[in-house]
Amino acid sequence: MQHLVDTDNFSDAQIAQLLADARAFKAQRPPQLLRDKLLITLFFEASTRTRSSFEVAAKRLGASVVHLDPSRSSTKKGESLEDTFANLCAMEPDGVIIRHSQNDTPQILADLEMTPVINAGAGNYAHPTQALLDLFTMVEHFGGEVRGKRIAIVGDIISSRVASSGIRLLRRMGMEVLLVAPKPFMPLSDLPQYESLDEVLDRVDVVMSLRAQLERHATPIFDDYGAYATHYCIDHDRLGDRELLILHPGPVMRNIDISDAVLQDPRCKVLEQVKNGVYMRMAILKLLLLDA
Ligand code: ASP
Repeated sequence: MQHLVDTDNFSDAQIAQLLADARAFKAQRPPQLLRDKLLITLFFEASTRTRSSFEVAAKRLGASVVHLDPSRSSTKKGESLEDTFANLCAMEPDGVIIRHSQNDTPQILADLEMTPVINAGAGNYAHPTQALLDLFTMVEHFGGEVRGKRIAIVGDIISSRVASSGIRLLRRMGMEVLLVAPKPFMPLSDLPQYESLDEVLDRVDVVMSLRAQLERHATPIFDDYGAYATHYCIDHDRLGDRELLILHPGPVMRNIDISDAVLQDPRCKVLEQVKNGVYMRMAILKLLLLDA
């Protein structure tokens, strides 16, 4: 049984297959390959893009989706997560898509080997489908190859599961990753680290901006995100006419992460990432539910 806890669950050949399938699905909508399949989503944290993207992807392939709302479920009555999961698995779904605040929850459930577990974001550790859709967006942008390209990841890196999964996958794909953040947002890492965004803009091909993960800060890290924005907001003054690809996993804090004007700029592919997310998740569901 194959799971997706993080992208290292996939071989290089499988990642190549995912990119090829996502590209093919984008070029032409596929037949309903998962017509008899049923997925359950179990989201213990808020989500706009990821949950709806999984649902759209599943439905485009003909699968059914059942959502369990944990705020109204028996976990509220003291049932353990493992028991809730086992009860869902007794209904024989073809996979469970889970988001949770704890880093190790998807792995714990995957180890039960009851149904394929798909991690839709866990703690600050892993968000593999975001990493894969970001990879797809860059591969598409650079005409098929990202090896040797440089990306600056900017913002609250230490709390970001997007950064953490992204760093592991993009390094594996041969990209050079630079970290740009004020000290409280910088993780321990062997990657090149910068406090100044302006210092790196001439040296990179891609800038990935990240939201401050306020819900993961035990106490507020900055009182004033206006002051933070002066140094880290991607705006036109900072960007100039450089040919950079600007990415952000969403939700964007407007005029703190990226300015209103840059969000409209063709160099900024935030909505393309959302579009590509559906195609990449279709490819992932096909791989896990059909091919594996
Ligand atoms: N949507 C992404 C996540 O779930 C990024 C974010 O929330 O800032 O981690």
